[in-house]
Amino acid sequence: MTTEELARYRRELEIQLSELSEASSTREQILDDSLTTGDTAGAELAADLESFEVDASIAESERNLVLKISHALERIERGTYGLCEGCGIAIPTARLDAKPSVSLCLTCQEEHEAGR
Ligand SMILES: [Zn+2]
Repeated sequence: MTTEELARYRRELEIQLSELSEASSTREQILDDSLTTGDTAGAELAADLESFEVDASIAESERNLVLKISHALERIERGTYGLCEGCGIAIPTARLDAKPSVSLCLTCQEEHEAGR
């Protein structure tokens, strides 16, 4: 991989990371507002709790993505970015372009998802 390509992926990853942290702070703000309104009528409380659970699962997957992106940035520093962490082959550029935070080639990813 060329230095230019690495720089491009790094920029892409950094943009994704900052968008994620922006999105999560906005959601926390909304959550705070809805929790401090103090309206505890039964139905509304249930709706709040439901949206709270949805938020929690979104937050969970965002946290995972943040970890993946940070990990990818670390690998850029270490010079191992773009290499599959499973088998060590170079991950195809098309795959990295679609999702710069991937750390496995397609074969290893499929094995990982199959739980092997
Ligand atoms: Zn692999």
